[in-house]
Amino acid sequence: MAIESFNPYTGKVLRRFRAFSWTKTERILTQAARAATAWRETTFATRRALMHRAAELLRERQDELARLMALEMGKPVVDGRAEVLKCALTCDYYADHAEDFLRDEQIKTEARRSFIAHEPLGVVLAIMPWNFPFWQVIRFAAPALMAGNVGLLKHASNVPQCALALEKIFHDAGFPPATFRTLLIGSDLVEKLLQDDRVKAATLTGSELAGSKVAATAGAQIKKTVLELGGSDPFVVLADADLELAAKTAAQARMVNAGQSCIAAKRFIVDKSIVKPFISQLKTHLLALRTGDPLDEATQYGPLARPDLADELTKQVEDTVKAGAKVELFGGQKAPGMALFRPMILSNIKPGQPAYYEELFGPVALILEARDEADAVRLANDSPFGLGASVWTRDQQRGEAVARRIESGAVFVNAMVKSSPEMPFGGVKKSGYGRELSYLGIREFVNQKSIWIA
Ligand code: NDP
Repeated sequence: MAIESFNPYTGKVLRRFRAFSWTKTERILTQAARAATAWRETTFATRRALMHRAAELLRERQDELARLMALEMGKPVVDGRAEVLKCALTCDYYADHAEDFLRDEQIKTEARRSFIAHEPLGVVLAIMPWNFPFWQVIRFAAPALMAGNVGLLKHASNVPQCALALEKIFHDAGFPPATFRTLLIGSDLVEKLLQDDRVKAATLTGSELAGSKVAATAGAQIKKTVLELGGSDPFVVLADADLELAAKTAAQARMVNAGQSCIAAKRFIVDKSIVKPFISQLKTHLLALRTGDPLDEATQYGPLARPDLADELTKQVEDTVKAGAKVELFGGQKAPGMALFRPMILSNIKPGQPAYYEELFGPVALILEARDEADAVRLANDSPFGLGASVWTRDQQRGEAVARRIESGAVFVNAMVKSSPEMPFGGVKKSGYGRELSYLGIREFVNQKSIWIA
């Protein structure tokens, strides 16, 4: 894929970038590996001050960064600013807590003294997607740098300016330049990087295909990976749910980032006794949302990030309808090659249709009717994915019991799924493995070393 900024709203190419050669990439890797030796010796106090400064810079630059996202991948500026502020919060969070999270853990054994030490691994390669161009990177970089690792970022090819802005934040904050570098490379150089001994581990957020390729190469080299892949999150509405609140939140949960979020609610599993009013209310909420220029403050959802993503979504919808789904709300693309995709609702979703098992990465809500609670849980779990889920019921205990039976990395009861720095984030099944955020996230890329003193 060409490395270029392409505005999906205007259809214009804004800037093209020449991809780094292997020679240049290798030179940066050499510097990163050298930096890793020095960076691991720095104190938490030093790292903390720099990370707080990065948070400040993110806050100061929120308008500029939101504008970049609007231009490169179509995110409305209001949402872009919120994303940048969440990044700042997460930098502060790890600045404040990393030392505690990585403190030696004393363990009682027959030894005189035994404990677990947490040591950095060195250079970690981050392969990141375009949907939350700042957030996806920060949730890797803030803990990784605080743990004493060094980051190399291979960002998605359609967000090069966001990638460079991220590098600039860390450099302007005072991090030694080689501790965080952006590599403007295509995915073709990723394999070579993973095969280099100086790259110690990798993290990828993106599609299953990219994840499995990166994990296979890293696996052949016996290197640790964390994968955060797709999801087809169930949004389970039981018969005793607060229907109005559930339908209103359903629209928000499906429309996060114009539907292009791994934890957007995608399959609405609704008790058959309330399915009709649920669809009707969901339709009203979706129709009330305003689209337009992502640079406009009033825009609530923008185009999809790239026209090919909209074409692909249209194909999934058409094939699903051909296989028996019913269109409850007409929307979609006006014409092939256009990135704008208006919200749709499809019902009568059944096995054998693409939408039943595939992820629909855009604003299409799928309605599945459940006979009862057990059937709702069965449907929720009948998916190759297991990232997030939400359950709606007025009975908190029932909500908790259902939450425990759903196969996913997170379940929210009477709330939409979201990530926050304090709670671990990640999936099971084809949604990936490993955890980001929380104290678990920072421990993914450290050597959890047992030290035994007899
Ligand atoms: P990709 O998975 O292709 O892209 C994500 C990142 O992986 C990019 O940096 C990409 O680089 C890189 N990449 C792609 N292929 C390889 C490879 N073989 N080896 C190494 N790196 C690779 O996502 P797409 O942009 O193509 O989106 C396709 C689908 O992926 C979406 O419709 C959605 O289902 C899913 N997705 C999920 C996301 C999530 O948050 N979990 C985020 C984005 C997408 P490059 O851009 O240069 O190809």
